[in-house]
Amino acid sequence: MTTIDEVAAYADELLNTANIPDYSSALNGLQLESRSPLRGVAAAVDLSTRAIEGAKAVDANLLVVHHGMFWGGLSPLTGAAYRRVRLLLENDIAVYSSHIPLDCHKTLGNNVLLAKALSLTPSREFARYEGIQIGVAGDSDVLTQTLVERATEFARNYGHAVRTTPMNDSRRTKRWGMCSGAGAAADTLKEAIDAGIDTLIVGEGPHWTAITAEEHDLVIIYAGHYATETLGVCALAQHLGDKYEVPWKFISAPTGL
Ligand SMILES: [Zn+2]
Repeated sequence: MTTIDEVAAYADELLNTANIPDYSSALNGLQLESRSPLRGVAAAVDLSTRAIEGAKAVDANLLVVHHGMFWGGLSPLTGAAYRRVRLLLENDIAVYSSHIPLDCHKTLGNNVLLAKALSLTPSREFARYEGIQIGVAGDSDVLTQTLVERATEFARNYGHAVRTTPMNDSRRTKRWGMCSGAGAAADTLKEAIDAGIDTLIVGEGPHWTAITAEEHDLVIIYAGHYATETLGVCALAQHLGDKYEVPWKFISAPTGL
């Protein structure tokens, strides 16, 4: 019999949660406990009613997410927020959330796994944040269009249509950088330009990032916030499922972004 507390403590250690900075609303770690022993793990990108219903349907009592219960900031437990908490409590489903620790992890992280999914080999860290590096970067010699095709094929599985900044068909990617989710932030874009990166692969980014990119001979591939952050939660759920010998399942709940 494995308690949820035991699983959470193990995951905190595995992900180095205590030492990785994050936004306060990420609240990494166990966010809601469950009194039942672990019987199954469900993985979802976002804590949502769809994700909780999915966990319930597969009889998992641990829901592992990337964007947790408090992601939207402080808010009263009324309306939809109340219904979500009630649904979790009524079904005794625990919530474990991991944001940046699960972006930057060396084997289970969104970025290393996305690089692998796109057949890219990381050789450097990338995307500085509060003294750590969230993303990865590397060298290649591939048509940028080929990378776009790989990203398109990947993101299609998660209901996302990839977009890119303008480029010509013969353009080649020699130096790439990657930061999942809302990766095209001002700091990351500047870091990419300073590092001579010619292709930046992110989840999403604001409109102005396309202008900045074009003017610095940089192409940005926007592969989807949701799509680029599916890999880490699955890797973590699979790891926990294997370790504790319980089933695990990915709960698909695409956001369209
Ligand atoms: Zn995110």
